[in-house]
Amino acid sequence: MRLILLGPPGAGKGTQAKILVEAYGIPQLSTGDILRSAIAAQTPLGIEAKAVMDRGDLVSNDVVNGIVSERLDAEDCQPGFILDGFPRTIAQAEALDAMMAEKGIKLDAVIEITADADELVRRVIQRAKESGGARADDNEDVLRNRLDIYQNQTAPLVAYYADQGLLKTVNGMAPVDQVTAAMKAAIAS
Ligand code: AMP
Repeated sequence: MRLILLGPPGAGKGTQAKILVEAYGIPQLSTGDILRSAIAAQTPLGIEAKAVMDRGDLVSNDVVNGIVSERLDAEDCQPGFILDGFPRTIAQAEALDAMMAEKGIKLDAVIEITADADELVRRVIQRAKESGGARADDNEDVLRNRLDIYQNQTAPLVAYYADQGLLKTVNGMAPVDQVTAAMKAAIAS
């Protein structure tokens, strides 16, 4: 199974991806997690990405497309994968389509997790408290920037995948287990 989770920061993509990993036995492929690991390891990629991420801006398409292309070839991704946080732009979605066509694989579904802006701000502030500031991009100003970027650059993917007949939408404001149930039902349908 090959899935994309789409939704604004704080909608619950990461939480749900981790639950689906257990349920379906396929890996979560989070470009944000990969970039944070690169920062922690102080690789050239991490050093380059850190300032961009701290502002809440998007890392360049070339960088994230390269990360994903490499991951898709790995052994653990052969049974399928859950993309979380990629694609975030139409250009990335087109690059993913091209990569997958080249590898002879297809997406099964794109699940959009919706949530209202006030709730997202509340959740991200909560996450910042719980993580003790581990994520420099979890503060209100940066979050507002990330939400603007989501609206302007990522939200157009909803129509992009609806046109491909792949889009399923679930209400991310529901409790975690209900969101999971709705996602599983959407995947099965
Ligand atoms: P996330 O953990 O998905 O919220 O991503 C954290 C940050 O990593 C984002 O705010 C971006 O700076 C960067 N990032 C993650 N995925 C992408 C992507 N697909 N395109 C560009 N930047 C990304």
